[in-house]
Amino acid sequence: MLLSPPDVGPLEEEMVVEAVRSGWIAPLGPMVEAFEAVIAERCGRQHAVALSSGTAALHLALLEVGACAGTVVLVPALTFAATANAVVYTGAEPVFVDCESKSGNLDPHLLESALRQLQGEGVFVAAVVPVDLLGRCADYTRILPICERYGVPVVSDAAESLGSSHEGRPAGSFGQMAALSFNGNKIMTTSGGGMLLTDDAATADRIRYLSTQARQPTVHYEHTEIGYNYRLSNVLAALGLAQLERLDEMIGRRRALRQQYVDLFAGQPGVTVFQHPGEEADNCWLTAVCIEPMEAGWSADDLRKALDAVDIESRPIWKPMHQQPVFAGARSFLSGESDHVFATGLTLPSGSALKPKDVDRVVATVRKFLGA
Ligand SMILES: *Cc1c(COP(=O)(O)O)cnc(C)c1O
Repeated sequence: MLLSPPDVGPLEEEMVVEAVRSGWIAPLGPMVEAFEAVIAERCGRQHAVALSSGTAALHLALLEVGACAGTVVLVPALTFAATANAVVYTGAEPVFVDCESKSGNLDPHLLESALRQLQGEGVFVAAVVPVDLLGRCADYTRILPICERYGVPVVSDAAESLGSSHEGRPAGSFGQMAALSFNGNKIMTTSGGGMLLTDDAATADRIRYLSTQARQPTVHYEHTEIGYNYRLSNVLAALGLAQLERLDEMIGRRRALRQQYVDLFAGQPGVTVFQHPGEEADNCWLTAVCIEPMEAGWSADDLRKALDAVDIESRPIWKPMHQQPVFAGARSFLSGESDHVFATGLTLPSGSALKPKDVDRVVATVRKFLGA
């Protein structure tokens, strides 16, 4: 049993078949435009550009704000590597900033210290990339004014948070640009895909241009700069349209699952459900528990092994970027919180495709483990 497998059924099949029969296979077509329009509306944005992955969306967004060799981009220490990888693709250097303990999201205090320190040294900070961890929106209410004061653009990594909101505004609506992901394990999937969101028409045009090999409008293919092959195909957009119709229902199932875990671990000493309480506005993409082994008498790894023994997948929350061999030596502003979340946290099966019998099996396995 996987943490978050794709949740697709007859509606997805029907719409993909429709896209194939329409003759619009690839690359672009009417379903790409329809998909972009619905996502833009849902995320409260003027423009959406469908791309081949969330990583591609981050890459182009960072290029667009001017990330390049000789600049740095501030990235949360606690995230999936794609956020930092996209920075490296531009030639810029990722600098890691630690998280707040409860949400696991970018710590605004540390962010401010980092900006003050770096700009004081004359370092050019091209962007800040807050991440909406496991579906919980970063604290944009505090982050955006800080970035504005330091004159640094914000690119929101909303890869995990489609359908969530923060103070009444949808995930994806924050910052100059935001990136969504439709990877197979995300809240909804196109089997692989992403979206760049912006309110600026010129930015959207430029992203479309860069994502289709930067072709000048001439009959012969003329190129004045390096482009990318990052557009989403029409068939995959059809899958996305079907998933969007089911998004609220899928989020509802993930939220119900979160509540089941809250009930399951209630009263267990040393165990807390990560990001709980306060998740009413979250899509509950993944549910994690944090275990203090001294209080609980067991560790996250003990529970992981018990689940693994019966073929149930669970995983630590992202290994922090400053602990990754590939980013060894990168500059970091740390408090120890992301290390603590990594050491104590465990994500549990959270997918909307889980069947009631799957959930029963997880619950029974955890009960047996807790009773032992
Ligand atoms: C999944 C993910 C990405 C990358 O999205 P892809 O579509 O897989 O390229 C980026 N950032 C975060 C936080 C993610 O979870």
